[in-house]
Parts: sequence; C-alpha cells; structure tokens
Amino acid sequence: MRKTQQQQRMWQRLGSMVLVAIAVVGFFPVAGHAADRDTAEAAHRIIELPNGASLRVRPALLTPGGFFEFEVRGAGQEIESLALRLDQGRFEAFQSSPERWRGYGALRASASAGTAELEVEQRDRQGIVHRHQTTFAIASKDFPSTQLKVAPKFTQPSAAQKARNKKDQKAFAAAYAAPFGPPLFETNFANPVAPDARVNSVFGGRRVFNGKTKSRHLGLDLDGVIGTPIYAAADGVVRMRRDCFYAGNAVVLSHGAGIFTAYFHLDEFAVEEGQPVRKGQLLGKMGKTGRVTGPHLHLSAKVGATTFDPAALMAFDFFPEGAQPPVVDVINDGLTP
Ligand SMILES: [Zn+2]
Repeated sequence: MRKTQQQQRMWQRLGSMVLVAIAVVGFFPVAGHAADRDTAEAAHRIIELPNGASLRVRPALLTPGGFFEFEVRGAGQEIESLALRLDQGRFEAFQSSPERWRGYGALRASASAGTAELEVEQRDRQGIVHRHQTTFAIASKDFPSTQLKVAPKFTQPSAAQKARNKKDQKAFAAAYAAPFGPPLFETNFANPVAPDARVNSVFGGRRVFNGKTKSRHLGLDLDGVIGTPIYAAADGVVRMRRDCFYAGNAVVLSHGAGIFTAYFHLDEFAVEEGQPVRKGQLLGKMGKTGRVTGPHLHLSAKVGATTFDPAALMAFDFFPEGAQPPVVDVINDGLTP
C-alpha cells in the first residue's frame, strides 16, 4: 500500500518534470511579421572591389545558418554571369538592372566564425573569368544542443530501405539541380503553417555525444496536428513530389534566384510535379509520414547547395524600398519546354 503511494508520488513528480521540460524546450514563435524583418539600407555593408565595382551585402552581420542578399554595382556592361563564393558556397546572381547584379546566399550551420574569404567571380562575354577577392567577417552563433550520455539507439534500415533512400537522395539532387534564373516571387516569404506557428525544434540544433556533435537538425519543425493545411511560402514551381523513406511525403519548391523550400512528412499532397504555385497556395496537409514520432512540418530552405535556417528566409525583407524584382512573364525553370 505504502509502496504504491510512493510510486504514485514519483510518477506525479516525473510528470511535472516532463511538463517543465516541455515548457523550457518548448515553443518559440517564428519571426515572420513585417515589423521583425531586417530593415533597409542601414543594415548593409559596402565593400569596394579591386576592379572599381562595389559589393553590397545585406544584412551587414552574417551568422552561421543565416541568409543574405548581395549586389554588385558598377562592374561594367560586358558581364555574362556573376557569382559570389563564401563559406564553401557558390551563389549565382541575376542582372537586376543594366549596371547591377543581385543574388542570394547563406552560411552553413557549421560555418566557422571569424574572417572568411569572399570572392566575386565575373565571366565576361568573351568567356574570360575575372576573380576579385576580399574578406568578410562571420559572427559566431550558439545553437541549442542536446547532450547525450548514451549513444542513440539506431534501428538499422534494411537493405531495401537503404536502396529506397538512395533513390530518394537522387530525386532530391535532381530537384535541387533546377537551372538558375531570376526570382519567381514578388513578395516576401511567409510561414507555410501560420504566421504564429509554434516551433518544436529550431534549425541547427546539435545532438552532442561524448562532447562531439553527432548530428544537426537542418530544418525548422513547425507544430500542428494531422490535417493542418500547409501552404507555399512564396511563388515558385513544384520541383519534386515524392514519398520518401526518411522525409515521408515531401514537396520541393523552386522559387528562382537559386532559392528552394522543402516540406516534409505531409499526410496528403495537393500539388503535382512541375506545377507553378502561388504564395499561400495549398501544397498538402500536415502529417507524420516518413521517419518521425509525431505530426509536424519539417521545413527546409536551400540557396544554391547550402541548407540554411528557414526562419531567416521568412524574416528577410527582399523589398526594403518596395522595389520589385524583374518581371518574369513565363514561369519556366527547365521542366517544361
Ligand atoms: Zn525536423
């Protein structure tokens, strides 16, 4: 009898500990409101390049997992293509006006803080590549970490599951290999669940075992129940719609300018591969397909080949002066002839 009461008390105590843990780890609202967006011109940094052109990077302070815009002005008329290299990433630019080239880039979660090499790569009409090097400061960022005392138990995937995952990875690679083009969007990115959607797990969170980072969470987990509508974060094209082993039912959107968003673990699809979509268009319903323990949306963001924090994409003001990107009259990124 006494033992049972003790056990009861122990379970009650455990229960309240779990609740406290949920409250602490818990729910952070995602920045997505206009007031939170990085504001305008004051937040950029200008670097004079050796060829007399100037490079503007916004925001002025870059952190691991962060997203940025760059613009090269006054580089002359004879440019065929322009790209920027930073932190192992290569980011292509589009011509935003006769004298300006604009592009977007990001830093990996594992980018090191300190002074990084930055290179502007210009290809002229004769096919000659001109490289202009400078440096850029990367600030440090602390990502949350979960300390593991015991190695996580792995259920080894079967040979068939491994083979399936290999095919999934090929499909993702093909989706992300969309030819580069100007932006397909004319407004800022929105939260695909709701402006005040709760976050279950932030981008970049580390699982640390014996002091070593074992894995990182490379997306943003948004909370909800099965059936919650999932909307396109911005205008774009559906590059992939696939039932994957780990990601479950997954949709990849290309937004032009090298930017992609991906939506994992969906219950149902509402779009077809190759279909153009508008911001706010229904992509599918939230689910728990793939390797997950409960329903949520794992949102992933990429620019070029760099995976970065989707919260940074949703908070970024692409049009600080109300300026619009060049008009794209045909949405065509290589899928349709
Ligand atoms: Zn996730």
